[in-house]
Parts: sequence; C-alpha cells; structure tokens
Amino acid sequence: MATILDGKAHADRMLEAVRLGVEARKAGGLRAPGLAVVLVGDDPASQVYVRNKSAACAKVGITSLEHRLPAETPQAELDALIDRLNADPEVDGILVQLPLPKGLDSKRALHRISPTKDVDGFHPVNQGLLLEGLPGLRPCTPSACMSLLAHHGVDLKGLRAVVLGRSEIVGKPMALMLLEQHATVTIAHSRTRDLPAVCREADLLVAAVGRPGLVEGSWIKPGAVVVDVGINRIEDEALGARIFAAEPKKLETLRAKGAVLCGDVRFGEAMQVASAVTPVPGGVGPLTIAGLLTNTLQAANG
Ligand code: NAD
Repeated sequence: MATILDGKAHADRMLEAVRLGVEARKAGGLRAPGLAVVLVGDDPASQVYVRNKSAACAKVGITSLEHRLPAETPQAELDALIDRLNADPEVDGILVQLPLPKGLDSKRALHRISPTKDVDGFHPVNQGLLLEGLPGLRPCTPSACMSLLAHHGVDLKGLRAVVLGRSEIVGKPMALMLLEQHATVTIAHSRTRDLPAVCREADLLVAAVGRPGLVEGSWIKPGAVVVDVGINRIEDEALGARIFAAEPKKLETLRAKGAVLCGDVRFGEAMQVASAVTPVPGGVGPLTIAGLLTNTLQAANG
C-alpha cells in the first residue's frame, strides 16, 4: 500500500510559515500584506474559491480586499480596476479569479497586473523568470506541489518525471520546476501517442488534465510517486463504477450523495502500485491556496 501524501497537513505547515512571516513584518513595524481578489460575475465555483481564499487570508493575518464586479462589466472597467490596484500602495498581490465571464479577455487582464503583484505567477514576466530559473512569483499549484515533494524527501535529481497536461497554470510550470531540480522531464498531453506507456516510465507522475480517473493503476510504474492535480466532480454512476472499482466507499458516496470529487488518477488502483499518492480531495487542492498566500507574503516583502 502506498503512503498518502497529505496535502492538507502540508498546506497547514505552509500557512503557519506565512503566519510567522506576517507576524515578523508587523513586529518590524510594517503593515500586514494586502491581497486584492477580483471576482467578475457569479460563477458558483469561483465564489467558493474566493470565499476560501479570504478565509485563509484571515487565518494568517493577510488583509484580503474583495472586488466584485457584475458579469456584464466591460473590459475597460476591469482594466481600470487593475490599474488602480497596481497603483495602490496597500495592495501587495492581485488575483483575478478565473474563468472570467464570456466577453472578457482573461489574458489581457492577467497581462495588465503588475508583475510584482502577480501572486498567481501567470504574467509573462514571471513565466519568463521561471523559464530562466530566476526568482520571481511562481504559479501557486506547481510551486506548492514542489514544496510537498521536498517535504517528503522525494529526490528529484535524475528521476524520470512525466507531467500529464501542458497548461500555463500547472503542466508547463510544473515541468520547468522539476527540470530546475534536475529531473528528466517528459510533458505528455492530449495528442501524446501511447499515453499509458509514457506514464509507465515515470518515477514521478504528475497528472493535471481534468479527466476523471484517466490514469489507471496499470499506467503506473510500481513504486512511483503520484501527484494528482485534477479536481473533477462526477455524478455519472456508470463512470463512477468504472473508476472507483478499487474504492467501493467512494462509489457508495457517489450513489448516496449524487456526486463526488475525484482526481485524474484512479486513487484506489494507484494506492496498490505506487509508493506515494496525493488524494483528491485533500491533496493538491489545499496546497494551492497555501501557495497563493506564500506568494502574497513574498510580494509584500519585495
Ligand atoms: P487545462 O484544461 O488548461 O489543461 C489540461 C491539459 O490536459 C491540456 O494540456 C491537455 O493537453 C491535457 N489533456 C486533456 N485531455 C487529455 C487526455 N485525454 N490525455 C492526456 N492529456 C490530456 O487544465 P488545467 O488548468 O491545467 O487543470 C487541470 C486539472 O487540474 C483540472 O482538473 C483542474 O480543475 C485541476 N486544477 C487543480 C488545482 C488545484 O488546486 N488542485 C489547480 C489548478 C487546476
């Protein structure tokens, strides 16, 4: 049986480090870091994320400033808000919650955020710094995954890592961070030929795809470390019966509640083959917010 890599416990450690950093700033006569969160429209999932971010800020002493705009906000108005936040000396970090409603250009909004306040690490300047291996604000999800791997003593040097997914938010930056730590990295994606064979080469498999239960136990090299970034809500019982074959309790929950969250990896199957696996929920999810607040403190400290 694999070890479960507890993301919640590691997120708590990261948040405690941020809390101490905020206290140290205040002890030095500086104000608490300020994080501005911009939420456009009323997407229910985004509202939950924003609420969770504000609650986490409160726990560590970061001031969170929410800006809610209606879904029909014109781009120019969003631009103007970002400009104001860029110029506001009380704001250290700016986060524009994605996805933006139809009609708004998210790339344009993200590129407008000052790179020094870009706590999501999505600005091309920060992505460029990462590419060059220089310090900057790095995307929260992959940097928190790296922190989790470091905490568990996973030696990345020379290890075969496969990153499934090539998004700017997770897949690509994760691959760069692993490369920086001297892993031998393959990025696989929707067009990769013979995905199971590619995955089977991985000593470390990171799945960031958004396809529930895509990665089967037979795709995993015995003893591999598996990081499951995917967060998928499934309601389909037939799908559940397939992907939870080795997790009867999860299938029961799906039947009882009508929906469950699951990752891109079949957790029950992975537990029988891998040496360590992150669960969903309770794995990478909580780490992402911890990464965001770590970045906010970093942005405040300059
Ligand atoms: P995305 O849709 O931007 O990218 C998905 C990637 O997966 C693409 O590069 C695509 O090529 C690849 N892909 C799609 N279908 C595939 C297939 N059948 N086989 C192989 N590759 C395939 O997604 P994203 O923003 O990177 O997010 C990926 C997943 O991670 C989602 O489930 C998302 O909800 C989750 N996520 C979780 C956190 C967290 O905090 N845990 C943060 C960000 C994203």
